Amino acid sequence: MDVIFLGPPGAGKGTQAQILEKAYGLHQLSTGDMLRKNRHEGTELGKIAQAYMDRGDLVPDDIIIAVVEKELENWTGALFDGFPRTVPQAEALDALLHRKNRPYTVILFDVGEDTIHERLTGRWVNPKTGRVFHDRFSPPPDDRIDADGTQLIQREDDKPEAVRHRLEVYHRQTEPLIAYYADARRGRLVKVDATKSVSEVSKDIANALGFRDMAATQ
Ligand code: ADP
Ligand code: AMP
Repeated sequence: MDVIFLGPPGAGKGTQAQILEKAYGLHQLSTGDMLRKNRHEGTELGKIAQAYMDRGDLVPDDIIIAVVEKELENWTGALFDGFPRTVPQAEALDALLHRKNRPYTVILFDVGEDTIHERLTGRWVNPKTGRVFHDRFSPPPDDRIDADGTQLIQREDDKPEAVRHRLEVYHRQTEPLIAYYADARRGRLVKVDATKSVSEVSKDIANALGFRDMAATQ
């Protein structure tokens, strides 16, 4: 099964992807986490991506598409988190999945800007695993050290100035994907109310994907 999570930064895509991965064994394919891991390890890709990411701009399509294409070879199904983010990326993914005869469902995270700012300014991230916390909604350990020993960080691009820019980028480059996926010949598009609590959003997504036993796994 392939699932695409579409929505603005801070909507809760990574949080939900990690829950679904644990509950149903769907593989989370987060391009943001992959890029941060490359930065953490100092790879060539990480060095190229760094300036774009810190500014809140998108990494060029050809680079991201090549990364996803390579990663997809390892998985028969994936939960795409943060990809695609542009129409050319969506077209490339359609071509890749179509070639493998894989239909997909798109989950659109519906959330307003006030919630986004509140979520991003309180976010703490494990740069190694991508696990997320929030000062108020999912508090990290007092010493800000995760269970695997990694120091949690606040992302450079979660600063208010970068968040404003990322939202502009979202509106300009990613929002057109809502119309792209509303075309029923592509995937099935389902909108969820992402302002609800983490567990309520999980249940709504599980229902949309036809997983009826989500409550039992919580
Ligand atoms: P995205 O992957 O879409 O950028 P995240 O999953 O990282 O978003 O979530 C952003 C922040 O909001 C994190 O700090 C996370 O703990 C918190 N969060 C996620 N979902 C919810 C929710 N439903 N209610 C409250 N806080 C949430
Ligand atoms: P995220 O963790 O999804 O918020 O992504 C963080 C940053 O990584 C983005 O602001 C971009 O700079 C870069 N990035 C992640 N995914 C993509 C993508 N699909 N296309 C281009 N850039 C991306």
